[in-house]
Amino acid sequence: MGWLEAEGTLSLAEMVSRFGVSKMTIHRDLDLLEQRQALKRIHGGAARIERTPRELRAEGKNGPGSCLICYRSPTQHLLYSLTMKNGQQAVACCPHCGISAHLIRGEQVAMALTADYLTGRLHSAQHSYFVMGSIAVPCCKPSMLTFADEEMAKRFQMGFGGTLGRFSEALEYLQRDMSMHDTEGCPHCAAAASGRRS
Ligand SMILES: [Zn+2]
Ligand SMILES: [Zn+2]
Repeated sequence: MGWLEAEGTLSLAEMVSRFGVSKMTIHRDLDLLEQRQALKRIHGGAARIERTPRELRAEGKNGPGSCLICYRSPTQHLLYSLTMKNGQQAVACCPHCGISAHLIRGEQVAMALTADYLTGRLHSAQHSYFVMGSIAVPCCKPSMLTFADEEMAKRFQMGFGGTLGRFSEALEYLQRDMSMHDTEGCPHCAAAASGRRS
């Protein structure tokens, strides 16, 4: 997991051998991820996109409100929307922060919807399929992407690695990650949040 994050770049040949899929599949998936700005294509492979908290905030200026955890603005394909028990609405920049919100403010959450990463359509987070820790990191790290359709989630996982799970597994996954870093959220989100405050 996190190969692209760890190594910065990955060649097409390496991707083919690691994921055991055809070059054509890789090309198609890379196109999709580039559109979502999860990575950038370089000659013969892919590289991760480096963004500073300042850039992330600038990108999010026109969005539908900012993430309740890290203040980044959500995009349609990553949106995680929460309805609190007091009727308040909140959004998270991606399922990663959405799940963080459940862990941090669990008792206050009445309902949650998450976008399908492929179609952008919102559906119940409780019934979603989560791909966690794949090499596709369009927002927060470790990456967490949601799919309404199990088959699509499996295909995505086949191409980009990570673990497939349901809502409860996503909670456990992030809880483990948080306890590892011993902070209130992921270090990535914390950095974005402190960048905004300063
Ligand atoms: Zn966030
Ligand atoms: Zn995020």
